[in-house]
Amino acid sequence: RQNERESLLIVLNFAKTFFQETLKTTDEGKSIGLSYFRERGFTNPTMDAFELGYTLDQWDALLKEGLRRGYSRDLLEKAGLILVKEGATGGDNKVFDRFRGRVMFPIHNVSGRVIAFGARILKTDKNQPKYLNSPETTVYHKSQVLYGIYQAKQAIRQEDVCYLTEGYTDVISLHQAGIRNVVASSGTSLTTDQIRLISRFTPNVTILYDGDAAGIKAALRGLDMVLEEGLNLKLLLLPDGEDPDSYVHKIGADAFKAYIREHSQDFIDFKASRWLTEAGDNPLKRAEGISDVCVSITKIPDALKRQTLSQRVAQVFHVSEQSVISEINRLLRKQH
Ligand code: ATP
Ligand code: MN
Ligand code: MN
Ligand code: MN
Repeated sequence: RQNERESLLIVLNFAKTFFQETLKTTDEGKSIGLSYFRERGFTNPTMDAFELGYTLDQWDALLKEGLRRGYSRDLLEKAGLILVKEGATGGDNKVFDRFRGRVMFPIHNVSGRVIAFGARILKTDKNQPKYLNSPETTVYHKSQVLYGIYQAKQAIRQEDVCYLTEGYTDVISLHQAGIRNVVASSGTSLTTDQIRLISRFTPNVTILYDGDAAGIKAALRGLDMVLEEGLNLKLLLLPDGEDPDSYVHKIGADAFKAYIREHSQDFIDFKASRWLTEAGDNPLKRAEGISDVCVSITKIPDALKRQTLSQRVAQVFHVSEQSVISEINRLLRKQH
């Protein structure tokens, strides 16, 4: 078992290096992959820090090189690097590279070893998913991984806060802008294991999701989970249509840092402002809003924190603290 893990890590490291070389030294890699990254504003040191690469638009570039270097077909398949399609009766199996004609984002574990890849097509079109990821393997369990954790962990400890984004390029662009305490859940909705991974480095999380309907929905889903794990949570909504990557390129590093400082809200303000906008003078809607915020408060394991936050809810919604506390107690009883 231990042996299989190590073999997989070795073949994944070989693939990573092969994809980096393809990006930097082949004509196709340079004219397509490298220009793509440059257009996105990534510098050479950034590409090196994240070990970005490119896969040729061919069926078996990695397979051939892997076999030549002595890696077995079986190992390449177990690592999620190649696909084997059974041929029709009597026909040959078709074996080919999983990732072709894409820019490659290696996914590292906490200690910096490559365990999987995210891969992006260059031109988005409706018929193809934009990103393709490695399948689950012995070394890659996507629900337990945060993209960028290896590059971010020291800064997360230093800044004592972790910025949580949606995607690969958000992590990379913020890192390049000097904001290095950033990770992404990358294509899964946030999981408890991912939150526990963050809590190894800091008790403070700020969610920086895309400023679109999907981002808001994901933030609301993630919110209660972060609270349940006892972490302190802030949220920041980006302007509609922006994500951290696009926005930091638009306004620059310093303005982005200022934006985070000035616009991060705690979860009560984040939820309350949405409810208060929607409710207007409608008292029933306001009550619904109070109850909704109280549901989130019940997720917090620490009774003292729940108590202090009840005061905030009362202030924000202009109701008595006692009514908030009794709503929280009602909800807590209902859960047990
Ligand atoms: P880009 O800026 O390159 O267009 P993005 O990171 O802004 O990409 P989003 O559409 O905001 O892309 O998605 C956020 C993240 O979700 C991606 O970085 C990727 O990890 C994941 N993701 C998006 N689309 C897919 C997909 N079709 N399959 C798997 N994962 C996906
Ligand atoms: Mn999005
Ligand atoms: Mn983007
Ligand atoms: Mn995005």
